[in-house]
Amino acid sequence: AGTSSTRVFLTHLVASMDGVEETYIMVKPDGVQRGLVGEIISRFEKKGFLLKGLKLFQCPKELAEEHYRDLKDKSFYPKLINYITSGPVVCVGVVASARKLIGATNPLQAEPGTIRGDLAVQTGRNVVHGSDSPENGHREVVDTLADASQREKLIAKIGGRSY
Ligand code: ADP
Repeated sequence: AGTSSTRVFLTHLVASMDGVEETYIMVKPDGVQRGLVGEIISRFEKKGFLLKGLKLFQCPKELAEEHYRDLKDKSFYPKLINYITSGPVVCVGVVASARKLIGATNPLQAEPGTIRGDLAVQTGRNVVHGSDSPENGHREVVDTLADASQREKLIAKIGGRSY
């Protein structure tokens, strides 16, 4: 009990410090369907990252479009939105920079030892998302893991249906 309350205390302390990166991780629908949620979260835990939030979530189309708005001119964009909304995802907020653990977008180019390098073969089915900057990490954590009142504000902003 001592260790876990110390850990909870540290989570809050670290999260409140300036300059500490927050990363939003999402186990994508293929990762959930393949039963890789435990394996993927375990890698962040074993590395020592502090978990800030965790949730099974059906991503509404409007939110998927908001998250991937920078890619909307890409040819694969419609497939990407279909893929992300095709089944539940698991949203995880961690306090740390996590890109190196995730690996390159194309799993065949991702280094062995990274999540994508070890667990995936296709760019279009690359099992996990990780925010690419602390700002996006914070925004994505708030969008999906924040309390209901903050989500209502987001829905109002993007004009999407409730979830
Ligand atoms: P990352 O997820 O590594 O940050 P991007 O932000 O560039 O990569 O792309 C977001 C997601 O879009 C990728 O994780 C992948 O699911 C999908 N994607 C990217 N490029 C392609 C592609 N060429 N073909 C199919 N899907 C792609």
